[in-house]
Amino acid sequence: MALIQYITQVQIDFGAVALLPQECTRVGITRPLVVTDAGVRAAGVLDMALAALGALPHAVFDQTPSNPTEAAARAATTLYLKERCDGLIAVGGGSSIDLAKAVAIMATHDGALKTYATIEGGSPKISERVAPLIAVPTTAGTGSEVARGAIVIVEDGRKLGFHSWHLVPRTAICDPELTLGLPPLLTAATGMDAIAHCLETFMAPALNPPADGIGLDGLARGWAHIEAATRDGSNREARWQMMSASMQGAMAFQKGLGCVHSLSHSLGGVNPKLHHGTLNAVFLPAVVKFNASAESIVKDRRFARIAHAIGLPGCDAAGTEIAEAIRALNARPAGPGGRSARDGRDAGSVRADHRRRDGRPLPQDQPAHRDARGLPRDARREHVARKWSRGPRRGGSCAASA
Ligand SMILES: [Zn+2]
Repeated sequence: MALIQYITQVQIDFGAVALLPQECTRVGITRPLVVTDAGVRAAGVLDMALAALGALPHAVFDQTPSNPTEAAARAATTLYLKERCDGLIAVGGGSSIDLAKAVAIMATHDGALKTYATIEGGSPKISERVAPLIAVPTTAGTGSEVARGAIVIVEDGRKLGFHSWHLVPRTAICDPELTLGLPPLLTAATGMDAIAHCLETFMAPALNPPADGIGLDGLARGWAHIEAATRDGSNREARWQMMSASMQGAMAFQKGLGCVHSLSHSLGGVNPKLHHGTLNAVFLPAVVKFNASAESIVKDRRFARIAHAIGLPGCDAAGTEIAEAIRALNARPAGPGGRSARDGRDAGSVRADHRRRDGRPLPQDQPAHRDARGLPRDARREHVARKWSRGPRRGGSCAASA
């Protein structure tokens, strides 16, 4: 049995942010609280959203931390209630969108936030009363604008996941114009997160043909345009395609992810400075080869279909050509570890700072990530121990060679 559910309305194109008032009317928001962070404000991106809102009365909370906290969500909720808001607009990366989801719960539900956490069995308690949310992403990677989850550090220090179909934003306004200033390093890293979502969910064995189609198409778009977007951030075609790949990746990963995200979430939790998207890029080649013998890969000719999507003539049964193509992309000048990305490290430091927040690790208690059906092969403890016992490969990569 498979549950397949697509419910987000998406507006995608340059200038889509102008549709904010129209979308507020459509979902019944007359006085929104705009949730963002100081970096988005400083970069001038918030002004673009507020200009689009025009005369619509609103309040602004711009103190979203790098990793959303219950304290910040409470402060935003207090403002929401004081200003008598009736809905939320998140303008930012995954952190702002996740914080807005927490506010959507806290403003309409009683009790401590942690009681609604997935690991506490709280998902069924999140009802249709949640405040309506419109998400306006300013990065192209996480796809939080079409996802049902939020990650928040609660007061006892735990980083918990909150998941409910009621938390899916009512509208995602995907305007690539808002990503034109994204620095090369973060364009490459967040872009590889989007590519990893598309690729990994396509390898997952759960039954969800629409997700497979969306993921494979998103992979083709992301693969074809990530280098152009990294090399020249003003390339509007590449920015549009990366925005779409990001949104498609998150639409697809409701099917489940796999070992790449299991590893990157774990390592990102150990050291939050490690960028989530870069970790994915490093792990992908090894996981492709690790998955090669999985029944779902073999039966559905998934390597051949992936190879076609990324422009390869074919791929052997071990996944060699795909793994090598990812390694080559990672190493090219405009790849996530390449010179173009590194050279842009200091460009637009304010924007770089706020977008670094997209690299936040997600907890392993997220259902899509812990669902055993989401792993093409069961990555048992002995697999991990065997790989890590070999130590890092020469060259400093932390990726285990499959
Ligand atoms: Zn990810």
